Amino acid sequence: MNEAGCIFCKIIKREIPSKIVFENDLNLAFLDISPISKGHTIVIPKKHYSTLEDIPEDELAETIKVVKKISINIHKSLEIDGYNILQNNFAAAGQVVKHFHMHIIPRSYDDDKFRLEIPKNQASDEELNEIYGQLKF
Ligand code: 5GP
Ligand code: ZN
Repeated sequence: MNEAGCIFCKIIKREIPSKIVFENDLNLAFLDISPISKGHTIVIPKKHYSTLEDIPEDELAETIKVVKKISINIHKSLEIDGYNILQNNFAAAGQVVKHFHMHIIPRSYDDDKFRLEIPKNQASDEELNEIYGQLKF
């Protein structure tokens, strides 16, 4: 399953070049062309799914296995202190390429890239209860 015009589908089909670091039947991992840090890698399923909501759970599980394998290799091979796994869904969350993908972003204590600083907003018990009522299964 490929989608016309999708840049990642073109990478899978070798219609555009990329630095592929790992490939199996279902997944592909390649270096990000505009890396946030050295070794920034993208992992994708070979089938075109737009977001997390579209990829079947068994295929998602296979993709996560590859993310783990590549992450361990990056951690072993590069002099880094850690890494972020990032996965954007929909434009509002910063998704640009509409082919489900996971970022592996190598990090060092002093890399001055970005820090996930989670803003601490206040929420009353009433507000928490309201959203809890909407979300709990
Ligand atoms: P998003 O913002 O959609 O989560 O991230 C898409 C990522 O794909 C970006 O980090 C961008 O640099 C990367 N990317 C976009 N086009 C290409 C390409 O043609 N080749 C490679 N290797 N990476 C790409
Ligand atoms: Zn695609």
